[in-house]
Amino acid sequence: MSADLCAFCRIIRGEQAADVVHSDASVVAFRDIRPVAPVHILIVPARHMASLHELQDSETGLLDRMTSVAREIAAREGVDSSGYRLVINTGMDAGQTVFHLHMHLIGGRRMGWPPG
Ligand code: AMP
Ligand code: ZN
Repeated sequence: MSADLCAFCRIIRGEQAADVVHSDASVVAFRDIRPVAPVHILIVPARHMASLHELQDSETGLLDRMTSVAREIAAREGVDSSGYRLVINTGMDAGQTVFHLHMHLIGGRRMGWPPG
């Protein structure tokens, strides 16, 4: 086990248990360990980057790929017609707690707005 890797990098490498629902060369997705809704999945780049703000302008295709994976998973989880939310918390004020870029896919219940 690599102690210097972040929790999500360990999951990506298979060094930490997770309920992985998608994995390819660029994007991995797994169920959130503390779900806030019936469907709560994290979609992450396979390569470590701390936050959305560290993504280079030349790498925004990765976001397209993450969104595409999110849409596929939403359909598979049966929330594509009922609706779902994609959230990328970036930095302290947004409440980011794990500093490996991730997109939350949340669905399966009605949600309020604005977020807390
Ligand atoms: P954020 O607050 O946007 O940084 O979200 C981090 C999310 O990661 C939280 O919803 C946590 O419940 C989730 N999380 C933290 N550690 C793990 C883990 N080992 N496996 C799955 N989800 C995790
Ligand atoms: Zn990482």
